[in-house]
Amino acid sequence: MSEVEESLAEPRQAFKSGSTRSVSWRKSQLRAIINLVQDNEEDIFKALYQDLGKHPVECYRDEVGTVLKSARYSLSCVEKWMAPKKGRLPLVFFPSSGELISEPLGVVLIFASWNFPISLALDPLIGAVSAGNTAVLKPSELAPACSSFLANTIPRYLDCRAIKVIRGGADVGDRLLQQKWDKIFFTGSPRVGRIVMLAAARHLTPVTLELGGKCPTILDNLSSPSDIKIAVKRIVGAKWGPCSGQACIGIDYVLVERKLAPTLIDLLKLTIKSFYGEEPRNSKNMCKIINKDHFERLRNLLEDPAVAASIVHGGSLHEKELFIEPSILLDPPLDAGIMMEEIFGPLLPIITLDNIQESIEFINSRPKPLVIYAFTKDESFKRQIVSETSSGSVTFNDTMVQFLCDDLPFGGVGQSGFGRYHGKYSFDTFSHEKAVMTRGFFPELEPRYPPWNHFKLQF
Ligand code: NAD
Repeated sequence: MSEVEESLAEPRQAFKSGSTRSVSWRKSQLRAIINLVQDNEEDIFKALYQDLGKHPVECYRDEVGTVLKSARYSLSCVEKWMAPKKGRLPLVFFPSSGELISEPLGVVLIFASWNFPISLALDPLIGAVSAGNTAVLKPSELAPACSSFLANTIPRYLDCRAIKVIRGGADVGDRLLQQKWDKIFFTGSPRVGRIVMLAAARHLTPVTLELGGKCPTILDNLSSPSDIKIAVKRIVGAKWGPCSGQACIGIDYVLVERKLAPTLIDLLKLTIKSFYGEEPRNSKNMCKIINKDHFERLRNLLEDPAVAASIVHGGSLHEKELFIEPSILLDPPLDAGIMMEEIFGPLLPIITLDNIQESIEFINSRPKPLVIYAFTKDESFKRQIVSETSSGSVTFNDTMVQFLCDDLPFGGVGQSGFGRYHGKYSFDTFSHEKAVMTRGFFPELEPRYPPWNHFKLQF
């Protein structure tokens, strides 16, 4: 047996034993996740610094704090979520009762990405254990310090028969995908998402795909200067704030009317300076690019001559530190890589339009994004954006915050993925809601049985 198969035997056995179904086991695992994060906060900061150069405040905001919030919320709600719900039945079946029972799916496989390597591993795990599943977690090999942290601490805190961490890259991912799972929860690229789906199809395993894409931001003509300033602050916060733009829900590009572009660029520059100083490279407030390959990928996007000509701010690259300056591009060619691929880095194209209404057609002519951000006070434009575009979610007048709301589902649509999680949605993602109907023996409705006759048709 390979290491992968061996490590699967215990979670399978643990699930079969039934012990993970009890509310006490689920709560104990949620408490264990809380303790793991609280006791090891400093080590998490260190690992995130090693892998990504993340500042401790950013680590707390995007990883430690997010996981604690999710785990505490699930801990307070899990018993309610598990309770059977009544199903309404038609009178014709009287006397009878209907119930909806949430049952765990079994042994689940969770793939995490490297950009939020702690929260994107533990957040789905919170859903998996809340729903009473056992799980195998594969962190990303591109964040090795965080991956080691998870592999070392999870067995110390959580039920090590039921929860396993397997480290490795694509080869290990591939071996894991050859196994039969009861659910696969994947966070990553659309390219690997396709591989996951193909593998899952062999066993008819349900999948949730949390993928990426290009998230647009529409900036309408806000009349108040203070509103524009706040909007720009939130745009900068979502473009360069989380992991230096290496974020699935970060802003990919901004759509704005041509006449507003100079004001936008001026305010972006001022805000970047106020967040990261004259030399962002020395500020310690921005992450590095995860590795040389991604650095080269971004360099190629930027160094396309037509794209390079559109740089209006930044554009310098520091290979030794894997650092790319916050960069703004005005109207790069729409057929260039930077406008065709997910950027996933600190480069912000601004696309100008004659009329902001055109942004709807612009978005609809591209794959469905994970999020659409729009800054507008125009209620009819808001309704139009919601009803005439398709995306995982829409956030008006702010950025990123939707991710933190437990009562809003998080997930994509079309090329940005499918399935959803967070809060109760995570519990549902890792559960099967079983319909249970119970009938009495009397009265018996004879017209439902043959032999058929005209009278039974009337009935
Ligand atoms: P990736 O698809 O390269 O890797 C994701 C996981 O799949 C990793 O654990 C990796 O080891 C594994 N893997 C890679 N190749 C494999 C193969 N051939 N077979 C089996 N497993 C394989 O993605 P990434 O670089 O980690 O993350 C970047 C992407 O993830 C971006 O597109 C981003 O938008 C997306 N993302 C989405 C979310 C979300 O919540 N929707 C969050 C973060 C990142």
